[in-house]
Amino acid sequence: MEQHIKITPAAASSIDSVDFDHLAFGSTFTDHMFVCDFKDGAWGTPEIVPYAPMQISPAASVLHYGQAVFEGMKAFKDENGSVWLFRPEQNAKRINKSAERLAIPTFPEEVLLEGMKKLISLDKEWVKAGVGKSLYVRPFVFASQAGVQASAANEYRFMIICAPVASYYGGDVRVKIADHYSRASQGGVGYAKAAGNYGGQFYPTQLAKEEGYQQVIWTDAATHEYIEEAGTMNLFFRIDDTLVTAPTSDSILDGVTRKSILELANHLGIKTEVRALKVSDLIEAKKSGKLLEIFGSGTAVVVQPIIGFGYKGVNYDTPIPENNYAQKLKDALLDIQYNKTEDPFGWRFKVCD
Ligand SMILES: *Cc1c(COP(=O)(O)O)cnc(C)c1O
Repeated sequence: MEQHIKITPAAASSIDSVDFDHLAFGSTFTDHMFVCDFKDGAWGTPEIVPYAPMQISPAASVLHYGQAVFEGMKAFKDENGSVWLFRPEQNAKRINKSAERLAIPTFPEEVLLEGMKKLISLDKEWVKAGVGKSLYVRPFVFASQAGVQASAANEYRFMIICAPVASYYGGDVRVKIADHYSRASQGGVGYAKAAGNYGGQFYPTQLAKEEGYQQVIWTDAATHEYIEEAGTMNLFFRIDDTLVTAPTSDSILDGVTRKSILELANHLGIKTEVRALKVSDLIEAKKSGKLLEIFGSGTAVVVQPIIGFGYKGVNYDTPIPENNYAQKLKDALLDIQYNKTEDPFGWRFKVCD
């Protein structure tokens, strides 16, 4: 594959029209985007071009059969103006793991990393300094081939777009533990960052919202007895002084934030356990006073405390305790991401100065 990235700069920047203090998550995009097309069995010349709408055939395979996977990561600006990504090689690996599951051709990881580096460098004015502020980077790939035959497409488009963001959630999060709907099943595509995994969650999440919850905690599809994840976040439960999270599986997404939190917790002397957790164990721990906090982890939220959960019509409060693990781990993670502290793990990836 051609490694050289062809760059066509935007004639003018739209940055002056953006109110960086009032950004809705992921709805404003930078001046450029990365595009690479797969055709005749190979990826073509990668290009960076001005951000703009594009033409797509009404018969494009993705619109009919949903072959689409994506990634999400953030770029951070430190106090000296240098820009960093957080463990992007993990995302590069993961998009290919997702692609493989959806019968999408893999994309060379080094071209993805180089593409992100060039794209973010070109739009680096869009990365604002200050904790909470970042540039959300969204690589994705979809079947672009025209034709409604129900088989894996022969043509694909790989893209990267970037959105300046503040923090993701405001306010309190209460969750409903699923006892009917499922996000993913054994042997399915739950471990892939497949577009359809989100599409399938919106309706049950809407129903949960009508009941006063912000999100759904998914349980295993077969029995609804085991806690899986929150669908955009992996989950952590502090039971006594141990942080418990479910093992990843083919129905749980292997979050980069999740694995980083496990490593950080060990580093900070917090006991961790990766084990299957039953809803009944959780309720038992709550009743006996051992369930001290719940939080979710993901690139968008970093760490999101969960202040209560509902299961089969019964609500349980899990207020945020003093000296909670969630804040401690979030601070430790942000300090590394914003280059405020040493990075003993080698997680920071320099984009540009
Ligand atoms: C992206 C995602 C997460 C979080 O993964 P990170 O790598 O930490 O951002 C968790 N669950 C699902 C289903 C996801 O799609």
